[in-house]
This record gives sequence, structure tokens and C-alpha cells, in this order.
Amino acid sequence: MPEPSCNVIVMERSVESDLVRGGHDASSEIGAVVPPIHPSTTFARDGNYDLVSDYLYSRHGAPNHVAVERLAARLDNGAGALVFSSGLAALSALIETVPSGATVAAPRVMYHGGQLWLRRLDETGRINLVLFDQTRPEAMEEAVSSARPDLLWIETPVNPTWDVIDIRAAADAAHGVGGRLAVDSTVAPLTTRPIDLGADYTFHSATKFYNGHADLLGGILVTATKDDRWAEVNWIRTHTGAVMGAFEAWLLLRGMKTLYLRVDRASQSAITVARHFEGHAAVDKVLYPGLESHSGHEVAKAQMDRGFGAMLSLLVKGGFEAAHRVATSTKLFIPATSLGGVESLIEHRAVLEPPESVVPDNLLRLSIGIEPVEELIADLEQALA
Ligand code: PLP
Repeated sequence: MPEPSCNVIVMERSVESDLVRGGHDASSEIGAVVPPIHPSTTFARDGNYDLVSDYLYSRHGAPNHVAVERLAARLDNGAGALVFSSGLAALSALIETVPSGATVAAPRVMYHGGQLWLRRLDETGRINLVLFDQTRPEAMEEAVSSARPDLLWIETPVNPTWDVIDIRAAADAAHGVGGRLAVDSTVAPLTTRPIDLGADYTFHSATKFYNGHADLLGGILVTATKDDRWAEVNWIRTHTGAVMGAFEAWLLLRGMKTLYLRVDRASQSAITVARHFEGHAAVDKVLYPGLESHSGHEVAKAQMDRGFGAMLSLLVKGGFEAAHRVATSTKLFIPATSLGGVESLIEHRAVLEPPESVVPDNLLRLSIGIEPVEELIADLEQALA
């Protein structure tokens, strides 16, 4: 028997290697190294009128979605995943499974667009929304035990103050009242696996780190179990049409090839930036869970095992005006909303926060990209000066 050549040895591939290959097998079909795009909206039947493949019509799911979903489920140790046309489309689909009039509990500070949607559903009577102070763990437990939510929605670290919520405690609280826990893990990909800590669902705005190139909108939900509620989420995606286009799914697969590299590099730079500006004369406080001074540092250490993420905020001295001056004086950081791309962004959050927001006026949110960290620090230094 000839020795097998190395490219035919069958071995278990890590998710990291599978990501690099876009979940694709180059030995198939014509040997293409890059997966094809399948733009077809409809899929043919055979002579018996049976479907040729698992696909029917692309609003129900299509090959490029499925490739993303397999990888996303593996990354979060879930039983399955669904990809959506945006993060908020994924959030809406899950919320749609909450029975009419039932309670959703969520942190007072969280991604403001998601909270705006939850507030609207509360105002129209569709759900009862209970917000708790995410800086006090006992506030979450009190809110859950008294309001008995059908769904506890948390985000950790919390955008844009980066408070850390204990996922295991949240799961115990939700399950203790017969509810479920969903965790927005958008800003902590790879380093946090909420399902391993007891969550029922992990959510990502794939617009951010998963894609990483600021050129598509997407959302991902991962489930711990494929049960009836998960089937309902899938049905809702199909029948509200909240599905991603084939080209975007393909682009997302391409972005995900470098997820580990990008996240590791940006997280390493973020902690360097955070340490550099802690105690800086022009800065009141640096908010970053990787700093020992951060109130959530111990919990963060326990539930983030691959760095503390690429997001941090600076509370600058001099209030709103000073923050505004810094946000308009950077030369490398781009003053723009969003996060998780290869390019570093700076945002004066007060400009976008709704009137009821408790986010401080002098908060500058930094999304650290992959530029050399010395240049990022020098840019912030000159802007603060
Ligand atoms: N969750 C977080 C933490 C976010 O930052 C965002 C967007 O900024 C979303 C959810 C919503 O995702 P999308 O913009 O993809 O709808």
C-alpha cells in the first residue's frame, strides 16, 4: 500500500482551520479553493418531484447561509445556528417567540438600538420590558425573581460602558423562574462562549467582528438545543424574510476566515491602549474589563478566556466639549459609529444616545482595529493634547 500523501490524511480539523477554508472542501467538484456563491433563489426537483437537495427556496435557507451557520454553531459550541439579514433582525426573531404580554428583562445599558426596539414593544403592549441596573449583580437577580421573565436578554461586556455581567449567574436566575437566557456576545467573540456557561442562545451582530470589514450587515443566533422554540425562530426568519443574501453570506464567510487573527491582534492592542491611558492627565477614567481597576475584572477573567476584547471607552476630562474635540481631532481613528472592523473607530456616544440614556457625556468609545498599536496611541495622544 502506498503511503497516503498528506492531503488525503483524514483528520479532525479545528474550527480555526475550518474557518480559514470557509467550511469548504477543496477536493470537491473542480478543486476550487474558495467556496462558490449560490445566488439561486429556487432549487429544482427531480423526476419523482422530490427536491434534488435540502434546499427549496432561498428565503428558507441556502448553501452559503448553511456554511456560515455550521461554523457559527461550532464557534459557540451550539446545537445549531441561523444567520439573519442584520443583528436586529436576529434579535427581533427571537423576541417574536416571547408570548404576548410576557416579560423580557434586559440591562439598563445595552446596545441602544436593541433597547429602542424592546421599548417600543413594551409601549405597544406586545411585551412587558423590565430594565435592571447592570452594574449591580443583585439588581439583575431581584428583577428576574420578581418579574419572572420569559426571556432574559443580556449583553457582556455592556456596550459602551463595558460593565461585565456574570453569564452563569444570569443563566441560573433565568432558569430558576422557568425563563431562558440570550447573550449578546457581539463584542466578545471567541473569548466568551455563553452556551458553555448555561445560556440558551448566543447572539452576534455579524456586522461587527465576525465579518470585520465594515461592508455587510448580518446577525447570527446560536442555540444550545434544537427544540420547538428554535424551530419557531427558524419559521419566523423564513416568514418575515429576515434572511441574508447569498453574496453577503459568502462575504461573511470570507471575513470569518481571519476572525481569530483579527480578534487576537485587536484585543492585544486594546489592552495596551487601555493601560497606556489609565491615569493619563487628560483622562478621568478608562473603561476596559482587562484592567485590574475595572469593577468587572474578576468576572471577566473567569468568563473571557482569550483576551478582554477590542472595545474600550475613555471618559475624558472636560465633559461633552472636550470629548467632542478629541473625536474630531484624530487622524488615524475614524470618527464613525459601529465596531469590530479592521480599521479603528472613535465615537462620541453622547451624540447618538437617546435622551433617557445614562451613558456619560464625556464617553469616547474606541473600537480598536489592526493598525500598529504605537500609531493608535500616538494618534490619541495628539488628539487629547
Ligand atoms: N448588538 C450590539 C452589541 C451592537 O453593537 C449592534 C450594532 O451596533 C447590534 C447588536 C445590532 O446589530 P446590527 O447593526 O447588525 O443590526
